[in-house]
Amino acid sequence: MIEHRTIADLGSHDSPDDVNELTRALASGFSGTSGIVAEYEAAIASLYGVEHAIAVSSGAAAVAAALSGIDHDPGDEIIVSPACPICTVLPILAFGLKPIFCDVAPDGFGLDQQDLVRCITARTRAVIEVPMWGYPIRSDETAALVAKHGIPLIQDLAHAHLTRLNGDWIGRHGSIACFSSHDCKFMSTGEGGFVTTDDSLRAERIRSYTRFGNLTGESVGVNLKLGGLLAALGLARSRHLLAHRERRLRNRARLLALLNNHAFRELPVVTGGEVNGYALLLQSAGHDGRDLVRYQQAHGIPSDVGKYDNKPLFLLPLLTAYERPCPNATRLLRSLTTVPLHPDLSDDDIDYIAKVLNGYAPTR
Ligand SMILES: *Cc1c(COP(=O)(O)O)cnc(C)c1O
Repeated sequence: MIEHRTIADLGSHDSPDDVNELTRALASGFSGTSGIVAEYEAAIASLYGVEHAIAVSSGAAAVAAALSGIDHDPGDEIIVSPACPICTVLPILAFGLKPIFCDVAPDGFGLDQQDLVRCITARTRAVIEVPMWGYPIRSDETAALVAKHGIPLIQDLAHAHLTRLNGDWIGRHGSIACFSSHDCKFMSTGEGGFVTTDDSLRAERIRSYTRFGNLTGESVGVNLKLGGLLAALGLARSRHLLAHRERRLRNRARLLALLNNHAFRELPVVTGGEVNGYALLLQSAGHDGRDLVRYQQAHGIPSDVGKYDNKPLFLLPLLTAYERPCPNATRLLRSLTTVPLHPDLSDDDIDYIAKVLNGYAPTR
């Protein structure tokens, strides 16, 4: 019998610079156009080696802002996987655009290249990829394919801060990347997000959209700016993000070294990819992964899959009209569970998680 523990779902994101930066923002002004926001944007641009970073009020705002950076008319099509959160798809609907659900490649969240070709039409305006739980996908291949069709690649990297592909940040493989810094994500400002791009024209359009079209009355926009106090937190925490990732990766390495149960495996990491340690993704072998979800929850280990019920998005009422056959996505979503890796987990917590998972036997 293993002694029961309750494992915390989320860790703290505190950094030693938080209070200093908040104090500085309080003293110097903290609207969405204040200097501290520009400093935060410069820090993000420098961290990722991109030309432009635009801070916004949420990850959903980041997706909407990214869509404002591409040309589209109502009824145009955006290709996206059905294995992502509805948060990615709602902004598509809000713009009067049609989501076209493309299947994923087997055993991963990257788009299936053959199905992607089938999804592309004369009305395709963008492809959105979503590397879930920080696991890299082959965005390089997607980018090469869509470039041949003149279609921009948007990456929703809400989970994939600091995820790498081919020795570079995965966000540098697309046209526009969007991030969330909601408290439950890899990096937290409480609520918040940002968009990155190397394309100056797109950056200008995105910035304008998030600021009421610069109030000129020439283009549509709303107010999606991030407030200065949250930007101050982002600035402070961005300096410690690499160390934060190292602690998560250390927890992952410790846990993987202890696991010895063949009822599941870690989701395969694509060639050339490096995870960020946002969560450990486990894939059940030959049985319904929800069995493992229920088992770990009963032992006090939270699973995002238990929280959100992973199913293809076209099964949701708003999206049934967009159903397409996506057998890989359907199978993938039913096979998975997540395990926390956040920096607040002690070695004892990791050892407990390993003991619990090693004791799992499928009920069927
Ligand atoms: C969380 C999430 C969002 C939305 O981010 P918020 O900051 O909560 O608005 C968008 N896309 C993905 C993939 C997410 O996980």
